[in-house]
Amino acid sequence: MITIIIYDSISFIKLPMNDSKEITLFVDNYNSNHSDAVLLVANYLSKNHNLSAEIIISKNKQLNLKTTNKNKKEEYLVLDLDLNSKTLDFKTFFIGLIYQAREKLGSDFPKTKIEKDIEKSLHSLSFYSEVNETKFISKNIKEISFRGDFRNLETQNNDEFLFVIVPLDKRKTFLDKDYSMEDYRKQMSQEKKITAGAYYTIRNFSQDEIKMWFVLHSHSGNLGNWAEKAKTGDQAILWGPRSMFSPPKRFDHLILLADETGIPAMKTICENNKNFSKCTTFYEVIDESSQIPTSEKNKILENWIHREDDEPGEGHKLLETLKAFKLPENNFYIFGAGEARQMMKIRKLFKEKGVSKDQMHITGYWKK
Ligand SMILES: Cc1cc2nc3c(=O)[nH]c(=O)nc-3n(C[C@H](O)[C@H](O)[C@H](O)COP(=O)(O)OP(=O)(O)OC[C@H]3O[C@@H](n4cnc5c(N)ncnc54)[C@H](O)[C@@H]3O)c2cc1C
Repeated sequence: MITIIIYDSISFIKLPMNDSKEITLFVDNYNSNHSDAVLLVANYLSKNHNLSAEIIISKNKQLNLKTTNKNKKEEYLVLDLDLNSKTLDFKTFFIGLIYQAREKLGSDFPKTKIEKDIEKSLHSLSFYSEVNETKFISKNIKEISFRGDFRNLETQNNDEFLFVIVPLDKRKTFLDKDYSMEDYRKQMSQEKKITAGAYYTIRNFSQDEIKMWFVLHSHSGNLGNWAEKAKTGDQAILWGPRSMFSPPKRFDHLILLADETGIPAMKTICENNKNFSKCTTFYEVIDESSQIPTSEKNKILENWIHREDDEPGEGHKLLETLKAFKLPENNFYIFGAGEARQMMKIRKLFKEKGVSKDQMHITGYWKK
């Protein structure tokens, strides 16, 4: 008997997924950032030890797994999933396949990143906190410091992020101190929601304070709105931490790229990670006055790309800058985060430049 825990992945995609662009984004993310899980599922379904596997959307809108075995022979497996269905839940479907594959293959296949992350999320903690103080870091980034008891929070000082849960209507709703991720998940299926949540990166923390940088955007986003009005004493539950930054043990040159949502992660990584001898960063911000230079200049070359009149998530200047960037000969690792479609285009660019999946992790932090 297989029990499937609906895993709250980091995916920005809200289910159900009934739009082909969303499916393309999801498939691209799995092929690029979770190729180990795709191979696990492919080995299970094909009953073979394949060299590689990829999810393909066929012309007649069917989902296939393309496998390549050690003799370079390619095969296609049709996945039993109707992409036209209005209630399609690809994420749950695929996680279900991962559970089934693991049950069958046991320790014959190394643990995948998704499985490790699920394990991590099962041990995540909820921290009750209140806003201590706020200040503007740039035109559209507000730093919010939360006070609470964070003695049990463990991080590697990289891109660790927390799920921030806030009351939807501060005038009417107060959170119990023990409000948990389970309470949040339960109310998601109910019509009337009392809280909202989204992922935010830990910029700095001590035993009794966490600082995060919230991008203020003019859409009626729940957390964006909350952050805009946040003031001393406002409540929040912080759940986590989790992390995606997992570079190879040895590399010389770290390449980081992000829009404003990824800047806290990139800055925390390059300030605290000492595994590299050189770091080049590419940050997309509104304009010159929105730059946030790093205090530790040592080894870090910062490139600031100004979006100017482009809408967030829609500009091409970051992509164009990366097109012109000459990659180091070898021994580099790329980590990037920002708007999902922009990141998909950047992944494609680096793939065309010959960067392998193991040399990069470029992920969507939000979706236009
Ligand atoms: C691992 C991880 C770490 C993250 N760390 C940070 C962080 O440190 N700081 C940070 O600000 N964000 C961070 N994000 C992104 C943040 O979670 C999203 O921007 C989230 O959508 C904000 O939720 P919301 O309730 O404000 O908007 P939603 O309800 O999700 O969206 C409402 C509308 O706002 C738009 N929107 C959402 N975010 C933005 C944006 N940034 N700019 C323009 N339009 C937007 C959407 O397109 C949509 O139209 C992170 C995301 C992940 C997955």
